[in-house]
Amino acid sequence: MKHNFIVWGIFLFVLWTSIFRAHGQMHMPETIDARIFSGISLTSFSFTPASGSYVLRDEKGQTLMRLEKFQQLSVQLNPRGIYVSAKDSIFFVEGSLSLEGKRLENFFFVRPHQSAESYRVYDDFLLVYPGEEELILVNRVGYDNYLAGVVESESGFNRHPEFYKVQTILARTYALENSRRQVHSGYDVCDQVHCQAYYGRSRYPAIMQAVFHTYGDVVADPHNRLISAVYHANCGGETVASGDLWPNHLPYLQRVEDPYCLESPGARWEATIAKDSLLSFLNDQYGINPPPAQTKALQRFSQPARLLSLDQEGLITLRSIREHFRLRSTFFSYETRNDSLHISGRGYGHGVGLCQEGAMQMAMQGYSKDQIIGFYYKGVRIINLEVIPFEFMPW
Ligand SMILES: [Zn+2]
Ligand SMILES: [Zn+2]
Repeated sequence: MKHNFIVWGIFLFVLWTSIFRAHGQMHMPETIDARIFSGISLTSFSFTPASGSYVLRDEKGQTLMRLEKFQQLSVQLNPRGIYVSAKDSIFFVEGSLSLEGKRLENFFFVRPHQSAESYRVYDDFLLVYPGEEELILVNRVGYDNYLAGVVESESGFNRHPEFYKVQTILARTYALENSRRQVHSGYDVCDQVHCQAYYGRSRYPAIMQAVFHTYGDVVADPHNRLISAVYHANCGGETVASGDLWPNHLPYLQRVEDPYCLESPGARWEATIAKDSLLSFLNDQYGINPPPAQTKALQRFSQPARLLSLDQEGLITLRSIREHFRLRSTFFSYETRNDSLHISGRGYGHGVGLCQEGAMQMAMQGYSKDQIIGFYYKGVRIINLEVIPFEFMPW
């Protein structure tokens, strides 16, 4: 009888833990795999522990060597695999490599050999995969360390502490949502802007504090789904609704009039392009070879409020002009003087979602992170992943 109780007890415990696992809390992942130096084709680099010590392993998990602080390792892609050279040994490895930190705090330098890039510093582990023509470097990094690096890469130094909290919450939401969609295979995120810029570790105290104080905080829509937390540098006074720029219309990404960013560095810009280059762009891209009357209509273009296209029919999108001429935004007007177009523009970036410079100004004026996020994303709220039950997180 007593024995039966124990069996039942074990059974119920197993049942309970499995239910708890299925319907329990959603936790923050501990690490994220971020591909680094993804903008350049890397075939050779050096690795140096800057703190802690590292173990080099092959893909079977065999230890190949140990590296102490400041001991340099060179790694080179070769048609047969990867060549590794250190102080007094050179060897060849088939398959991938991992460099695993062994102390409490481990971070390292990476210096690409063939590019003009100088070294960068990263936290935690480095994984190296031989690709067809390049080495794929993946930083397996603690989630908080990754977020701190993103916040610094995306928004720089000396920002208001409340702004850093806003930026951290957006970075966390964006990273979780983006890696859920699996835009890359073999790693979670790259280090380019479409996955959020990540150029290395941050040890800036205000950023570390923002990451610590917002642990698990994300932005959710009214159905408790993570939002697409897009942001840009400066909206020029008016943000763009998502449906005006991208295929998806998202109810929280609406047009917002923004009085906060108008005095910021990204608010205004000037550019000049040759009139002929606009005409040949219109011809190449849209097959428009304007007769003199229409050319006259192209003498001047003005946007007191944001428009989507150059023409009234909506054919020539401002987005295509921005991309072709690498302009800072689509929020521009121009006048023709002689053979040139003198462009005066407003804002910097795609204009959808949160305006970073407006948010910085709001933080300085005393608005809270909830108020700032609620201003740029409509109908959302900040929730904590650690307190939202799993069944309410349909992802
Ligand atoms: Zn990416
Ligand atoms: Zn703005």
